[in-house]
Amino acid sequence: MTNQNRRILIVGGGFGGLFTALDLNGFGEVTMVNDEEHFLFKPMLYEYLSGEVEAWHIAPDYKELLENRVRFIKGTVAELDLDSRTATMANQGPKLSYDVLAFAPGAVTNFAGVEGAERFALRFRTLTDANLLRRRMTQALDRIQPDAAPQDTRNALTFAIVGGGASGVELSTKMADLLRDAIKRRALRGEPRVLIIEMADNLVPGMGTEIRDYVEHALEEARIEVFTGTRVVRVTEKSITLNHNDKLTEVETAAVVWVAGVRPSPLAESLKVEKDRRGLILVEDTLQVKGHPNVFALGDVAFYKDVVPTLSGTAQLALQESHLCSRNIRAFIEGKELKSKRFVELGEALSLGTEHAAVLSAGQVIGGPLARQARFAMYTARLPTWQHRLRVGASWFFEGTAPRPLKPLGF
Ligand SMILES: Cc1cc2nc3c(=O)[nH]c(=O)nc-3n(C[C@H](O)[C@H](O)[C@H](O)COP(=O)(O)OP(=O)(O)OC[C@H]3O[C@@H](n4cnc5c(N)ncnc54)[C@H](O)[C@@H]3O)c2cc1C
Repeated sequence: MTNQNRRILIVGGGFGGLFTALDLNGFGEVTMVNDEEHFLFKPMLYEYLSGEVEAWHIAPDYKELLENRVRFIKGTVAELDLDSRTATMANQGPKLSYDVLAFAPGAVTNFAGVEGAERFALRFRTLTDANLLRRRMTQALDRIQPDAAPQDTRNALTFAIVGGGASGVELSTKMADLLRDAIKRRALRGEPRVLIIEMADNLVPGMGTEIRDYVEHALEEARIEVFTGTRVVRVTEKSITLNHNDKLTEVETAAVVWVAGVRPSPLAESLKVEKDRRGLILVEDTLQVKGHPNVFALGDVAFYKDVVPTLSGTAQLALQESHLCSRNIRAFIEGKELKSKRFVELGEALSLGTEHAAVLSAGQVIGGPLARQARFAMYTARLPTWQHRLRVGASWFFEGTAPRPLKPLGF
C-alpha cells in the first residue's frame, strides 16, 4: 500500500474534523463521517436564531465544501474498535476500516443530573435546537391576548437560560431583543422577562474583568435578570425551581434553555482509552491518543495538556488543533517526525443582542454596532473554504444582516 492509499477515517465533521479533512487536501484516502449533512459554525447559532444569518451561511453542506477530495458519509458511528481498526455504523451499514483515525465527535449538553432538565429543558447546539426555540418564543407570543395587561405579557414571556457563560449572555440578549421587537410589532403592552441562572458568583467565568464589566452593563441595559450563586434544582414543562442561599423559588416559564455545560460525546465515553476526570481523552502533544499512535483526538473530546483553561472546549482550539492534526497525520504516514504546537487565544467576541457586540482586542473592549460588524468580519474569515467565505461575505455585505422578526405562526 502506498502512502497515498492509506485510509484516513475522520469521525465528526465539526471544527476539528472538517478542517482536518480540508487541510489534508487530497492526501490519503480520506473518509469523513458526520451525523448531519452539513457543517455548523456554532458561534453564529445566535444570529441564526434571530434571523440575522441564514442556514446556508453558517451550515454549508459537506458535499459543497469537500467537493470530491474526501468521501463523505452521513451517518452515526456507533462503535469504534481500536484494535481491529474498524468503525461500526448505527444503521448497520458495512464497517469502515482505517489505517489512521482522527476522532472529533465533539460534545453534548450536560444536564448534570438535574431533575427534569434532560426531558424539559431545550438544548442549544444545532439548527434544529434554534428552530425549536424560535418556535417556542413565537408560540408564547401568539398566546398573548391583544388587550393583555403588562404583567400577563411578562408572565407569558418568561424564559430562563441556565448557564451564565458566553452562551447564556449571547442567547439571552438575542432573545430579549427579538421578544421586545415582537411585542412592539404586535402592539402589545409589557415586557419579556429573561433570566440567566448561574451557579458561580460571576457571569462569564474565565473571561477578563474588562469584558465582564461590559457584559454586566449590557445585560442591565437589556433588563435581563441575572441570578448568580444560584443552582437549578428542578425543571418541569412549565417551570424552573431555583436554590439561592438554600431558599427555593419556583418560577413559571415559557421555556428553559440549558447552556450550562457540556460533556464528551457518548462515542468518546464508550472508548476504552486514558481519560481525565471529566472524560476527556488524554492526548500526547502530537494529538495522538495515549497508547494508540495511529489515533488522533481533537476538539471538545480531547485534553491537551498545555492549553490555557479559557481555550478548552472552544472552536478556536479545535480549529488550531485541526491544522496540527492534519500535519501529524501526514508525518505519521510518511514516517517523519511528529510535531507539537502552542495554541493561542484568538480574541473574544460576544454578540449582545441584535444590534451590539463586544470584541476584546489587545486588552481593550470595543462595543456597540461597530463591534457587531467586526464580529461578522472576524467570523467570515473563519468560515470553511475561501469560496464559501466569499459567497457569505458578499451576501452579508450586499443583502445585510437584519434580524427576522418573530411573526405569528401561520403567516
Ligand atoms: C451555541 C454555541 C456557541 C459557541 N460559540 C463559540 C464561540 O463563540 N467561540 C468558540 O471558540 N467556541 C464556541 N463554541 C464551542 C465550539 O463550537 C466547540 O468547541 C467546537 O465546535 C468543538 O469542535 P469539535 O470539532 O470538537 O466538535 P463539533 O464542532 O461539535 O463537531 C462534532 C461533529 O461530530 C458529529 N458527531 C458526534 N458524534 C458522532 C457520531 N457518533 N457519528 C458521526 N458524527 C458524530 C456532531 O454532530 C458534530 O457535527 C460554541 C458552541 C455552541 C454550542
